[in-house]
Amino acid sequence: MRFGFDIDDTLIDLRRHAFYLYEEKLGRKASIEAFEQLKTVAIHSLFDLTNEEGKKMWQDTTEDIYFTNCPSFDMAKEVVNDLVAAGHEVFYVTARPKHYCEKTREWMKAQGFPVVDTRFFCGMEDHEKIDTIRNLHLDYYIDDKPAVLDTLVGIDTTLLIKDQSYNQEATRYPRLYQWNEFKDLVK
Ligand SMILES: [Mg+2]
Repeated sequence: MRFGFDIDDTLIDLRRHAFYLYEEKLGRKASIEAFEQLKTVAIHSLFDLTNEEGKKMWQDTTEDIYFTNCPSFDMAKEVVNDLVAAGHEVFYVTARPKHYCEKTREWMKAQGFPVVDTRFFCGMEDHEKIDTIRNLHLDYYIDDKPAVLDTLVGIDTTLLIKDQSYNQEATRYPRLYQWNEFKDLVK
């Protein structure tokens, strides 16, 4: 089968990683409990930053957020490696900016994710993911953003959502809470 994966906040815990980097950079603590209940993808409100300040903070911190030691979700790597070992095809589809694509691909390899260069798709906007995913004729695709999944409804791919505090309203998709449950969802 053909499996497609979003990367950020689906396979890796990027937003939480950003939270800790913000704490470090701003020299102040914020509430991790509030983080875990936050209904927005953007986290700057936890640090009392305006939207503009938050945007700048993200821009100034992007390289660190993307390319330091962001942890993967527990068992995510194992699940993806097991799929490859079982003969399935694994594709990554990420909306990270174009100039970070090559570095992201190599970073993913360095983390232990099985990456075939020709199956790594990057640099499109969220709303453009639909064309990439449609053309790949995937059996399954998983993402954390309802806005992405919603554009894909109706294509011949089973859509799954990675559980996050900000996507609780998206109830139409089978929900992955922990990666060790993935195999049960794709049976
Ligand atoms: Mg994502």
